[in-house]
Amino acid sequence: IDDKYGKIVCFIHNLIKMSYMGKDNLNLVDATCGNGFDTLFLCNVAGKTGHVTGFDVQSEAIERTNDLLKGSLDYINYRLINDSHEFISKYISSLDVCIFNLGYLPQFDKKIKTDGDTTVAAINSLIPLLNKNGRIYITAYITHDTGEEYTKISEFLASLNNSEYNVLHIRLINKSNNPPEIFIVEKNA
Ligand code: SAM
Repeated sequence: IDDKYGKIVCFIHNLIKMSYMGKDNLNLVDATCGNGFDTLFLCNVAGKTGHVTGFDVQSEAIERTNDLLKGSLDYINYRLINDSHEFISKYISSLDVCIFNLGYLPQFDKKIKTDGDTTVAAINSLIPLLNKNGRIYITAYITHDTGEEYTKISEFLASLNNSEYNVLHIRLINKSNNPPEIFIVEKNA
């Protein structure tokens, strides 16, 4: 793990691979498709028996993701939804893994970015849908809005009932440039 975007993504992907690769009938969600790298990763984890649903508010992100998946997969195990993830429960009824990679689409309009209230609404609606061994992986960038979204997420997750859920918080403690931080939510077994 490092504070560079790509290394954080690899770290999350490795954690997910270790727990879920090779399992059948997985329901996976990418809550922020962006360029589609996380969605493609989840499609590979899901394989032919599983299914991935990807969300993004920007049609450009949905198009980029669609192009990437079409060019990389020889099967279709996904659907892409051009909607805000705060409405995720309209589309999802069961969840094994969800990735939130927050912030804005790199090299695009930085004004279109995730927001603390809608991100918390999305996480809140996904938590009851978590299957046994299901997890939500959130990468939050303090620098994108001077910490407003990060603070809302952190406070919300800290308030979850500790007999029902475990929340893990991973952060680099020896760097000074506010590197992204990771939260992982799971149901207590
Ligand atoms: N997972 C992406 C990848 O692999 O390239 C990177 C995601 S990028 C850091 C964040 C994305 O979140 C942007 O594409 C942005 O449009 C999207 N976004 C912002 N607000 C959103 C919302 N309320 N619902 C869904 N997506 C949102």
